[in-house]
Formats: sequence, C-alpha cells, structure tokens
Amino acid sequence: MAGLWYTEKQTENFGITMKVNRTLHTEQTEFQYLEMAETAEWGNMLFLDGMVMTSQRDEFVYHEMVAHIPLFTHPNPENVLVVGGGDGGVIREVMKHPSVKKATLVDIDGKVIEYSKKFLPEIAGELDNPRVEVIVGDGFMHIAESENAYDVIMVDSTEPVGPAVNLFTKGFYAGISKALKEEGIFVAQSDNPWFKADLIRQVIKDVKDIFPVTRMYTANIPTYPSGLWCFTLGSKKYDPLEVAEDRFHEIETKYYTKELHKAAFVLPKFVKDLAGE
Ligand code: SAM
Repeated sequence: MAGLWYTEKQTENFGITMKVNRTLHTEQTEFQYLEMAETAEWGNMLFLDGMVMTSQRDEFVYHEMVAHIPLFTHPNPENVLVVGGGDGGVIREVMKHPSVKKATLVDIDGKVIEYSKKFLPEIAGELDNPRVEVIVGDGFMHIAESENAYDVIMVDSTEPVGPAVNLFTKGFYAGISKALKEEGIFVAQSDNPWFKADLIRQVIKDVKDIFPVTRMYTANIPTYPSGLWCFTLGSKKYDPLEVAEDRFHEIETKYYTKELHKAAFVLPKFVKDLAGE
C-alpha cells in the first residue's frame, strides 16, 4: 500500500481514502483480513476486512467514550468485561478507574492483540496490566457461559459481519443482561445513523425490550463512517443522566469530560427519531 491511497468503501457509493506512507503488516487471520499501515494523516492504523478499526491520532475519542460513560454511571464498578477490543484502547481507559479490580478482555482473534501490541503500543499498552485478563475466544460464547459476573460490559466489536454478526442480536443482549450483576450496565458501539439507520433502530428496540434504562449517545470519530458514531447503553438500574457531581473523579482524557458525559446524550433530531426518543 506504500505511497498509495487506501480507500475504505463505507457504502457501495461512498468511502474515505487516505494516503499510506508504508505498509506495516498484512495477514489473512483465521477470522478476518488484518492490515496495519502507517498513514500520513492518522498515524498507524489498523484495518480489519477493509474497515478502519483504530488510528493513533483519533483513537482516544472512541475508547474514552466507550469506557468512561458506563464506568462513571456505575457507582462502584469492580469487575468489567470488554468483548472485542483487541487493540487494547478500551482496556487502557478502564485502567484509569481505581475501583476496577479486574478487567477481562475477550477477543476472538489473537493476531489483533499481537499486532496492536507491536504497532500501536500507546493503545495496547495496558493489556499486560496485572488487573487485566486477556482471553482469545468468541465473545458470544463467553457471554453465554457467564452469569451475574460483571458490573460493566463493553462491546467493542467489529461491524455486524463475519465473526461479529452474533454480537448485534437480541439473544446476545439478553445474554449480556444475564452476565451482568443485578445493577449492571452495558454499552455497545452501534455504528452510524447515516448509513446504518436500520441497525440502530433494531439495536435500540432490542435493548429497550431488555433493560429498564436504555439510552443512546454519540461522539465525533473522523475516521469512522460518516464521523458521527453512536453508542447504545443498557442499564438495570443507574441512569447516565443522573450521575451525582461528586462521582466524577479526576482522570486524564482528551475527549471525555464530565460535562460531555451528559451532553453526549443530546441527539440531533434525525438520530432521536432513530432512537425512538
Ligand atoms: N472500535 C472498532 C469499531 O467500532 O469497529 C472495533 C475495534 S476492535 C479491534 C474489534 C474487535 O472485535 C476485533 O479485534 C475483532 O477480532 C473482535 N471481534 C469480532 N467478532 C468477535 C467475537 N465474536 N468475539 C470476540 N471478539 C470479536
């Protein structure tokens, strides 16, 4: 890919393209086609099956917003699960919460973990933290085998294709509810409202059928399709909009703030309509 332009086709008619300085690694793993490249604009970037996963320059937005909203909403998160997330970015953010005694990461593809450690060390650096257990396995099966185990679960998976297809089903969300403790909270990345409106409608409907508190929030992620990224939160008790002021302890971030914790749930009208609000 060196010196060329790498294009991610986000729909049949639209995509983004970026200049690549050099290819770092490409491999067809057991589950997906893995590419790691040094891009001129975004630094090192991980692609899976031709889709942007994370980049050195804008990764903090997604990883902070997946982690800190549920972790500050729960009053005392101790046991946390990340499904997917093999680049380590969500785990890095989870480690900023001293209440977390153990974080388990379950990613189906060990190659993602291996090459993220090699080429994205500032993202993957906490995967070796003693509070972290890394499991290479199917997140769907891990959830099916878990019960009353986790305070917070974060689903940081690829798109609902290939190995991740089961991670956007109502059965999976029901399994998450079972795997959570009685006051548990989960968040799932839920793609974008411009090209995946039907997916968002379905995910919100499924989660609302299972969790008494269901909310959607957004963040700006320039390298993801449309740049407007959605997250679905399901909670058995705690409402992210009712977090007490004194709950927010100081943490180092570059996107998340305690003000944005609530403002992120203010949705544009066309997204509110999708979320059925
Ligand atoms: N932030 C990215 C996004 O929103 O598209 C996701 C990044 S992370 C690298 C996605 C991870 O999901 C990949 O490492 C992939 O191996 C993992 N994954 C896909 N299906 C999975 C499954 N069934 N169980 C566990 N991990 C899975």
